Amino acid sequence: MKGIAQLVYPGGGIVLPARSAYERQVLVEHVAHRARRSTVVRLDLDGRRWSITADASVERPECGKCLRRVSVAGTSAAVTGVYCLLCLIGLPVSAAQTLLLRGRAVG
Ligand SMILES: [Zn+2]
Repeated sequence: MKGIAQLVYPGGGIVLPARSAYERQVLVEHVAHRARRSTVVRLDLDGRRWSITADASVERPECGKCLRRVSVAGTSAAVTGVYCLLCLIGLPVSAAQTLLLRGRAVG
């Protein structure tokens, strides 16, 4: 359902609104918190199902959209690679930050 996020984790779950940018920012914080406490978190949002994990290793996964290396990332059958929480939840990553990271990746 559009604008509604369902989060499922070991031992429970929660349904949160995800209509405004503020609600989606709150969702990012909930998902990150749960992912760091669980092995895997499932998020249903905007018709997609994501499996989200926290990676505490030094070699953090690179987001397939914004190219940032992140400690919490998700995969979905609907996309290739991993996405960071901002990208998979649909919040903007600053353009300047993305350009800087792209420059580093090339150089
Ligand atoms: Zn991203």
